[in-house]
Amino acid sequence: MKALYVENNVLKILLLSITSKIFKYAALYPPAPARYAEVGEPQIPGPNWIKIKNKSCGLCGTDIHLIFMDMDPKIFPAATPGIYRKYLGHEMIGEVVETGSNVNNYQKGDRVCLRIDWPSCFQMEINPMCRQCQAGNYMLCENLGKKTPPTEHTGAGFAPYMIMHHTQPFKIPDALTDDEAVLLEPTAVAVHGVLKQKPKPGDKVLVIGCGTIGLLIISAVKAIEPQAEIIAIARYDFQSRIAKKMGANDVFMGSDSDMYEKISAKTDARYHKGYFGNKILLGGFDVVYDSIGNNSSINNALRWTRAGGNIVILGINFRPGKIDYSPLWHQEINLTGTNCHIVNKNGEDSFELAANFLAEKKIDAQGIITHRFPMDNYRDAVKTFLAKGKHGAIKIVLDHHQ
Ligand SMILES: [Zn+2]
Ligand SMILES: [Zn+2]
Repeated sequence: MKALYVENNVLKILLLSITSKIFKYAALYPPAPARYAEVGEPQIPGPNWIKIKNKSCGLCGTDIHLIFMDMDPKIFPAATPGIYRKYLGHEMIGEVVETGSNVNNYQKGDRVCLRIDWPSCFQMEINPMCRQCQAGNYMLCENLGKKTPPTEHTGAGFAPYMIMHHTQPFKIPDALTDDEAVLLEPTAVAVHGVLKQKPKPGDKVLVIGCGTIGLLIISAVKAIEPQAEIIAIARYDFQSRIAKKMGANDVFMGSDSDMYEKISAKTDARYHKGYFGNKILLGGFDVVYDSIGNNSSINNALRWTRAGGNIVILGINFRPGKIDYSPLWHQEINLTGTNCHIVNKNGEDSFELAANFLAEKKIDAQGIITHRFPMDNYRDAVKTFLAKGKHGAIKIVLDHHQ
């Protein structure tokens, strides 16, 4: 079978940093660290594993970061141990075709998606588990790299087959269509982010960014706290239209400077300009969800939040940044990060909640999937992703032939 994967090979990574200056798409062709190449079909390595025949998989910003190695080697996650070959494709749906002899929670024919995509205590069968895995925070596993997983050759969503430990998947409820199911993972991310700082009735909420995650955050806020007023910031008209359909009360577009004026008017915040072009708002949004997570969005979020308000960062950024964080202490702002999703013993199960919201149409994801490509045309999918504005792209899905 052919699979899309990234090799953690320093030479290839260095070479790409040079070749990509000459050729924009160097990352998509050999000898780049990302390869779409023939690999053997994965075999389950033990009685607790299952094998899945994949159907479709969404292309996520994280995949793009990894394909283009758009990350500074000095950042924190770059030092995580134990991952030498990373198979790409985590927003997958597929069908169980084989189960190990100990597996009784899944059977052949079950429709599944991937929940735990990280070598945590679960797959490594570490007993006792670390405190994070015990609490259901599998993305925050402290035992990463402690034990070599039974196999690195697992495949993932951008391959026709993959294997998972029986603790990794989430069983897709019958009520969900395949298209809804392929959005389960990003919906779980949005739901987890919103629950990190749940808005109160009447709160003014800002969502920065209207890509897949931003749009799903809008819908998740609406589902979780219908009495919140939601303002979104979009870059393109097509994003603005769907943001309104997903539940945004208003959508702002324009430059950062325009935003200060608009936000000041919307939230009755006082707008002050300093001597050197620095701007502040006194007052602002109660809760800000930042689906971009880069220097400028975090810098702005800190200024657009009222004193004592909350910011949740859902966007990921693999480059160390420079921000003026003075509003953090000056305005006593609460800044929270999120990493994907959880299964919390206190009742928060991000996937379960996402599935219920999608099934009940409290999150109506119609219109989020804008493009589909056969897996073999993944390069076209990546190029479409990189020119989202031109193509009107939100979620791009790759399909395997059945
Ligand atoms: Zn993703
Ligand atoms: Zn752990």
